[in-house]
Amino acid sequence: MRKDLIQVDDLARQDIERILERAESFAEVSGREIKKVPTLRGRTIVNLFYESSTRTSSSFELAAKRLSADVVNVKSTGSAVDKGESLKDTVQTLSAYDPAAIVIRSPHAGAAGLVARWSAAAVINAGDGKHEHPTQALLDVYTLRRRLGALEGVRIWIVGDVLHSRVARSGIQAFARMGCEVTVCGPPTLIPRGVEALGCNVSWSLDGIGEADVIYALRMQNERMTGSFVPSLREYAARYQIDGRRLRPNQLLMHPGPVNRGVELAGEVVDSPQALIVQQVESGVVVRMAVLYELLAGGGPAREASRFTQEDPTRVEPQPA
Ligand code: ASP
Repeated sequence: MRKDLIQVDDLARQDIERILERAESFAEVSGREIKKVPTLRGRTIVNLFYESSTRTSSSFELAAKRLSADVVNVKSTGSAVDKGESLKDTVQTLSAYDPAAIVIRSPHAGAAGLVARWSAAAVINAGDGKHEHPTQALLDVYTLRRRLGALEGVRIWIVGDVLHSRVARSGIQAFARMGCEVTVCGPPTLIPRGVEALGCNVSWSLDGIGEADVIYALRMQNERMTGSFVPSLREYAARYQIDGRRLRPNQLLMHPGPVNRGVELAGEVVDSPQALIVQQVESGVVVRMAVLYELLAGGGPAREASRFTQEDPTRVEPQPA
């Protein structure tokens, strides 16, 4: 592994396997009454969020706290970013706390990579514009592997606004690396040209979706659209919405959240037992614990080794007498 996690390409298949195994061991910790281990005690993690987030920011915070790190959460609203401070100056300011890791979400593609160059901390990309969201891809692979076992040959259809989706870009690569057969599906205006190079097939209609083992629906990323990409949401829903008719009983359903009910998914499938959406959120905590462990305490880069490196990360902290 490198110093940072910016994109799925930073991960070899064996890195992904190791992170998933580590996440399994943290799932056992999450089942305990006291869900904390001492692995990152005394180390500081900064969560820097320039874009709205519910699941990613709360799960990174919880993950860091469960590893006993000190956590600083900075959101763009209410911080000096509101006053016009640049990303570089903000990172320099926060570097004064000597963080072990900076978790960053930004509306700009490439922002996480820049922070990684400016900072000695391990930088984790929590979503940069329409570029990548690698921890989402890891938690999706983890969730699916828990449900299905080996992923070799599993057929996944990623449906919707692929063009503006960092989740799709990271997901295609991670699923393909794990041996899945990935197809992206959506209106031609929402499928990026040349996307096949990431390791997927392309379909402009849902006609063949019956072959999928897993349907992964995407939200329409209105915040990243400059023009009109579909005639209307109603027409989009008529052609691409996954509803109770289109989701077959043997298929699993995934979605990164937040769901727009009635657009990409009909309410009935969101609440069906075939949906793994809640499990994806649950997986977010343990997978992000595993990523933090990997970068800060595991067999990561030649940075200052944690004194817990050789220890069992799930060891419970001795209680004072
Ligand atoms: N939560 C995911 C993201 O931040 C997906 C979405 O917003 O549609 O990219």
